[in-house]
Order: sequence, then structure tokens, then C-alpha cells
Amino acid sequence: MRAIVWQPDGRLEEVADWPAPAPAEDEALVRVRAAGICSTDLHMVSGRLDFAKPPWVLGHEIAGSIERVGSRVVGWQAGDRVVVDPVIGCGSCRSCLSGRKYLCPDGGEIGTTTGSGGYGAYVAVKPGNLYRLPDALSYEEGAMMEPLNCTLGAIDRARNIAGARVAVFGGGPAGQLFAQLAHVYGAASVTLFDKREETLALGLRLGADEAVHLSLGGESQYGAGAVFDVVVEASGSVDAVRSCLERVAPGGTIVLYGLNGSDAPSIPSDRIVAKDLGVVTCISAPLLWDRGIRLVESGRVDVGAIVSDRVPFGAGAAFLNELTGRKRQVVKAMLIEEGADGT
Ligand SMILES: [Zn+2]
Ligand SMILES: [Zn+2]
Repeated sequence: MRAIVWQPDGRLEEVADWPAPAPAEDEALVRVRAAGICSTDLHMVSGRLDFAKPPWVLGHEIAGSIERVGSRVVGWQAGDRVVVDPVIGCGSCRSCLSGRKYLCPDGGEIGTTTGSGGYGAYVAVKPGNLYRLPDALSYEEGAMMEPLNCTLGAIDRARNIAGARVAVFGGGPAGQLFAQLAHVYGAASVTLFDKREETLALGLRLGADEAVHLSLGGESQYGAGAVFDVVVEASGSVDAVRSCLERVAPGGTIVLYGLNGSDAPSIPSDRIVAKDLGVVTCISAPLLWDRGIRLVESGRVDVGAIVSDRVPFGAGAAFLNELTGRKRQVVKAMLIEEGADGT
């Protein structure tokens, strides 16, 4: 099959005859129509995250259509439009049985730690990892369901959003989703902090009430005493973790979402104790996929507006090399199969 392969020399290269995944009798073969480019993928290529070794087909944000199903698959058929939950679990350990398959010791994530991912033309998936993509939604919106699922899980765990003053650090895709979700969950106000004008403007369009421009050092003149009931770290920056601790009100909640790739401690734990803070995070929310899809279908959350770059698959390798070489900046880039309904 055609695939964009992360090669041992650190470059991404389109290969015409990469082996397609062979689906088992209890799996479906999904033709990938849209695949999100995640900063996790870029961090893996740059060596900041070592989830897999090249050669490797990345991509865990996947929507497509079923090409064929194995003989033991019930309820799905060729042609069905689907969203893929990339997290795999054994299905029988304590973690899997308690709804946390992402902690399964024998589990993994398609495209990140196991299998062949969405940068290839096909992925093999068990029915338990498939969700129906409503007809009204594009494949591109379908591929955004994975980042939406993770951010939704984090907001859901923060619990006390209604009426809260919420701050979001980082206006990337996750930050844009957090700002919208906080708004939908009834926040009294949503304040977005970022260093880029374009992402702040986007945040204001999508649900943030105010946008604060940070200097390159991460400082801001924003009211020194202003505090927030819930602060979300969605930038992956160590500086932002510190800002979150300063800006959170006593008794408030910190949502740690971004990975910063530095193994050094970035949290003065005494301040968490002294301020009586709650700390939550989320890497996957297996029970919330349907809710995320409904939030988009109902128009409450706009995931399409976050996609800044739609890249035809054939141009994907060159585009990815520009991203990893830091020659290009995006909010959210999406690989789109040529001819698929991207929008
Ligand atoms: Zn991702
Ligand atoms: Zn398990």
C-alpha cells in the first residue's frame, strides 16, 4: 500500500509498496481518508518521545471507510464511514474492564506504539475501536475526534467547570478544543494565553472570552492578581506549568495536558499542597467517544475550524519534513486522501 514512512534517517518518505496490515477474521480493514498530524508524531520523529523506532507508519487520528471486514465481524460492512479509536487493550485485564484500556499492560496505540498508523492507506481495526461517522460530518472532522476525545476526558475530570473562571495556556489544537469545551461546559469566562496572534484570534472566534498575548519569555502584563478556578496547561511548555501554578486560585484545579518532553520536575509540589489544588490529566477517554461525536454533530464544538492546513496525501511527506525541520508552523494539519471529502 501507499504509506508515508518515518525512516531511520529521521525523514518522512512516501513509499508506494509498503506492506498493508493484514486484518484478522475479527478485524476490519479501514481505508484511511483523513489522518491528523499530531505534535506527538513530530516529537517521536525528533526523538523527544521514544514510543517507537523507525521505519514506522505514524498516525493515530484516523477517519475512513471500511474496505472489508473479517468473517467474525458483526454489525459493520464495507463502505461504512468510521472514526477509529486508536487505543488497543487486551479486553480482560482490570484496566480494560474498568474502562481504562489505555493503561492496559498489553495494550498500545495504533500508529504510536503498535500496528501501522493513519499515515498509511489502510489500518486494521477491531470493531470495538470503531465509531460511526455521521453522514453530516466530513472525514476531516472524523479525524479530529481523537484529540477531542482526550481533551473532553480532561474537562470531564475537572468536573467543576460550570460557573468557573477558566484559563487555557496554549492555543494549539488542544488549547482550542479546551477553550470550546470549557465554554460548552458552562464556564463563566475562558481566557486563552498564547504567544501567537493567529491562534489567539482563532480562540476568540471559537469560544474564548479573552485572549492574552504572552511575550517570548512567557510573561504577560495581564492583571497580576487575576486568578482562575481551573487552569489548563495545553502548550507543552515548562514555563506554562509554572504560570498555571501561579494563576490558579486556592482550592482550584490544574489540568496538566501537554507533554513537555523534559524529564526534570517542573512542579513545586508544596504549592499544590499549600493551595489545596486538584490535579487532573487525561490521555484517552474510552467511554466518551460517542459524546464527542455528538458535540460536533450538534454544532456545539467546531473541530473543522481548528484545521489550518489540509494536505493531500501525495504532498504529505514533504509537508511533514518541513514541520519536523521547523520550516513551517501550523495550528492543525490534516492529511487528506486525494478525492476524499475533506471539508
Ligand atoms: Zn494526537
Ligand atoms: Zn487490558
